[in-house]
Amino acid sequence: MSVGAELRLAVVVLGASRGIGRAIARVAARDGNIVVLVARSPEDLAAAAAEIVGAGGEAFTIELDLASQDASSRLEAFLAAKGLACGVLVNSAGYGLRGAATSLPADEQLGIIDVNIRALADMTLRFLPGMVARRSGGVINLGSVAGFAPGPYMAFYYASKNFVRAFSTALHEEVRRFGVTVTCVAPGPVSTDFLEKSGADRAALFKVLPKLDADYVAHEAWQGFKSGRRLVVPGISSKLAAFIARILPSAMALRLIGRAQRRKRDPNPHRPETSIAAPARKPESAFGKPDA
Ligand code: NAP
Repeated sequence: MSVGAELRLAVVVLGASRGIGRAIARVAARDGNIVVLVARSPEDLAAAAAEIVGAGGEAFTIELDLASQDASSRLEAFLAAKGLACGVLVNSAGYGLRGAATSLPADEQLGIIDVNIRALADMTLRFLPGMVARRSGGVINLGSVAGFAPGPYMAFYYASKNFVRAFSTALHEEVRRFGVTVTCVAPGPVSTDFLEKSGADRAALFKVLPKLDADYVAHEAWQGFKSGRRLVVPGISSKLAAFIARILPSAMALRLIGRAQRRKRDPNPHRPETSIAAPARKPESAFGKPDA
């Protein structure tokens, strides 16, 4: 489809070099869309583009670190230079870290906010107004079942996905009257590199839950988005996990999730130098003096 005289609409996928994003890019291309693949790894991006072109589609790639502040302006400039506009935005880039927040490196945890929250919000704000003006298209945001509860020992990741769910849900309501859809996709564990990279694969919670296939999640996400859905929770096991997280009293959910994500032999939750030991003497008050 073309916009005005010169711009053609594309599906722009952030986090398209691997996993769920790459699978969504394939589904969108099969549906006849031009796709723009965004991530940091040049070889993986080239391989993802080759898959699409080999199947008769049209794909562009751009290497971008979404943690950088100018990522959205650079992406917009790239699209304009290629005669493209963002018709559908897919925010699939993201990462998580399992371990105690007090033990994990602070900068890597803060990076979760930069990529999972800031970049997602920035990209959405940059491209959603054009969709509203055109009265078409929308945004697919990758949330998670982790977005239905706080997650001890994966605190930043769960908090980021709570943001994604709340943000997407609110925007869905704001823009649906313009014929624009914002869909939050909230899967449980999916068989991608994410599980090993985040360390989630070593936690009991992720061991017991069945792993979804990335192509299945991509298909459900794309169909749900095209049907104008606000929330897509792919698969029975994810639906059950999301339901339980929503109905359990929060104190019980916290304890259950905390226990299921903590491992006694982890280097992380209980590194001696950073573990929170019981105080040897009476604790000081918030004002630095011992409590009376
Ligand atoms: P994945 O296989 O690890 O892929 C993550 C993608 O994000 C890669 O393409 C990676 O590309 C990109 N990315 C990460 N940091 C980036 C950065 N700073 N700049 C640009 N791109 C970046 O993970 P996945 O399983 O497909 O996860 C996709 C989304 O689904 C994430 O938001 C994740 O939280 C969510 N999710 C995953 C699961 C699961 O179990 N796998 C479950 C629920 C939700 P480069 O490394 O090449 O930059």
